[in-house]
Formats: sequence, C-alpha cells, structure tokens
Amino acid sequence: MIIGVPKEIKNHEYRVGMVPSSVHELKLKGHDVFIETNAGLGVGFSDQDYSNVGATILNTANEIFDIAEMIVKVKEPQAIERAMLKPDQLLFTYLHLAPDLPQTQDLIDSQAVCIAYETVTDDRGTLPLLAPMSEVAGRMSIQAGAMALEKSRGGLGMLLGGVPGVEPAKVVIIGGGMVGTNAAQMAVGLGADVVVLDRNIDTLRRLNVQFDNKIKAIYSTASTIEKYVLEADLVIGGVLVPGAAAPKLVTKDHIKRMKSGAAIVDVAIDQGGCIETSHATTHEDPTYIVDDVVHYCVANMPGAVARTSTFALNNATLPYIIKLADLGYKKALQQDKHLRNGLNVMHGKITCAEVAEALDLA
Ligand code: NAD
Repeated sequence: MIIGVPKEIKNHEYRVGMVPSSVHELKLKGHDVFIETNAGLGVGFSDQDYSNVGATILNTANEIFDIAEMIVKVKEPQAIERAMLKPDQLLFTYLHLAPDLPQTQDLIDSQAVCIAYETVTDDRGTLPLLAPMSEVAGRMSIQAGAMALEKSRGGLGMLLGGVPGVEPAKVVIIGGGMVGTNAAQMAVGLGADVVVLDRNIDTLRRLNVQFDNKIKAIYSTASTIEKYVLEADLVIGGVLVPGAAAPKLVTKDHIKRMKSGAAIVDVAIDQGGCIETSHATTHEDPTYIVDDVVHYCVANMPGAVARTSTFALNNATLPYIIKLADLGYKKALQQDKHLRNGLNVMHGKITCAEVAEALDLA
C-alpha cells in the first residue's frame, strides 16, 4: 500500500503521524511511505532520518494526498487538508467529530474512508488509541502540579516530596483510571502522600495491589471528596464518565475552603472539567487563581511533550496501520470489529452512531 504522512498544520501541533522506526516496519513489509518535508522536525526527526529508513520525501501536502492510498496523521484534518482528500482514500487519525459539524460535512463530501483513533476499541472495552495520551497527561499532571505549588505561580511554596525532617505534600487524585494511575505513580515516586478516590471498587482493589499500600485508595462520595480535597495541597482531576461531560465533583464552596496556595490540575478539562471553577487554559498561560487556589487546566497537555507523545501514540497506532496496509481497509474492517468501531465516515455516510446522534444527522 502507498502510505502518506503530511506535516501537521494545526496551531502548535508538533507531533507527527509516524516515527522513522514505524516507517521502517512498513518498508520491511513491502509498503511505500511518503513523508512531507519537515513533517518530523518539531519532534527531532529530519528528512534524512526518514529517507534513511526508505521513505520518500515530498515537498507539499498536495503531493502526499495525491499519491497516498492511506493518510496517517495526528490531529483532525484542517479545512485545506479536507479539500485534498479523495474518494475511497483511507484517513487514519484523531477526528473528534461529535462537536464538529463542518469537519463531518467535509468528510462526508470527500467520499473518503475515515477511521478515528478515539473510537477504536479493544477486547477489554477500553480505547487503546486514547490511552497513551492519558498516560502522558497523567504523568505530566504531577509535574504541572509541582510547578503550580511554587511561590512564583501563587502556590504554597511546597516541595511535593518534602525533605528528610519535613512533611511531603498531600496529593489527592480524583479518578483512578489511566490518568489517575499514572499521576499516582509519579506522585508516589516523588515521595508525596497520595490518596486516590474512585467509585469503581475494582479500580480501588487494583490500585491497592499495584501500589502495595503506598497510597490510600478511597471510595469516592461527595463526603470523601470534600474531606480529602479540603486537606489537600494538590488535587488532580482525572475522572471520566464515558460519553458525558465530566461531573463537577469539586465545588466553588470547596475551593473557597481549600488551603490558601493549594493547587489543582484539572486534567478532565477536555470534557468540561471536574472542578466547578475550571476553565480551559493554554501552554502559553497555563494557570490562574481563584480564591487563592492555583488552577492548571490545559486541555491538550500531551502537546507540551510532543516527542514523547509522538512515540507513545505511534506505538499504539502501528499495529493498526500495519493491519490496514497489509489487508487493505475492506478486509481489515471485515476481520477486526475493534477497527470497525473506529470507522466514523465512509463513502459519504456517517458510520458512527454517537457522531450521528451528537450532530443530529442520524
Ligand atoms: P479512565 O476511564 O481511564 O478513568 C476515569 C476514572 O474516573 C474511572 O476509573 C472512573 O471510575 C472514575 N470516575 C468516574 N466518576 C467518578 C467519580 N464520581 N469519582 C471518582 N472517580 C470517578 O479515563 P482516563 O483515560 O484516565 O481520562 C480521564 C480524563 O482525562 C478524561 O476526561 C480524558 O478526556 C482526560 N484527558 C485529558 C487530557 C488533557 O490534555 N487535558 C489528556 C488525556 C486525557
């Protein structure tokens, strides 16, 4: 198959759809890979790195879209990219169509075959191509929280792990899924005093075993959230209720009563946030203060560590890229129900019920 990787053009997007080692894997299987010039520059891959593993470098996105049977990207195609899609061309990338009617309409009009990373499933019922970004955001949340606790940001002036003779910070993580577990791992590693709240008892059991009693795994109710949030130096919001906006678990009243200089990292901000006083911020200006509590609410946290995120994403997408390239999309979709769940738009029709319902196009 002929595979094309254009350079990402969304504002501040440095990631790239394929790293050179993935290109090498595809070449070993007899596929042809075309990369737009400078596509990997933002994460440290030169055109030479790609040509060394057998990719052909092309000068423009137009040439990539012209030649490729499958386009592999990171972010949803922008309007000028959508205009380059061709009937029956396969597009494999994050799409997030539910809130985006213009993009959906363009993909319908293109007659292309569009598989969205975020709706591909696995046998455990999780979303394997979203998980790597939650791992990254979960780990980053502790770095972000550590910074928010510094005096210069308006924080308490507290080191997460303390030092011998000085108490560590109390870190309270709401939601013990992918984000919460990775946040807990970093916080425990730094020596913080860690509590994780979740309302799934199996998750609490898993956390208890995984962390060998180094954290407190607590059942999440309005009362336990209030108790631990009021004691916290740092709160991480990592809840998810699939298909719904994040529940507001920490209220304005809690924020008023929290320690002065405490910090909050609301990772769930991309689903509206689980803290009542949260609003989305950017990497350029990541924090703001409400009632003396420092808030960090960046909606695309993995973008700040684009190199790690590119590898993490590509490790997860590569098996699917290989399957699509080896079998062609028709056979691959027939054989693999999880890839089929990823299909959002095909030959002018929406094929994902949630997207059709969200956009009133059912
Ligand atoms: P996940 O499904 O793995 O985990 C979510 C957890 O929340 C589950 O364990 C669930 O039981 C728990 N939960 C639900 N309701 C709860 C409640 N009332 N109290 C306590 N726990 C509750 O999801 P995830 O992959 O960890 O993602 C978490 C959030 O982070 C999502 O909103 C996701 O979109 C977001 N996210 C944001 C960024 C970013 O850059 N800001 C990056 C990646 C993920």
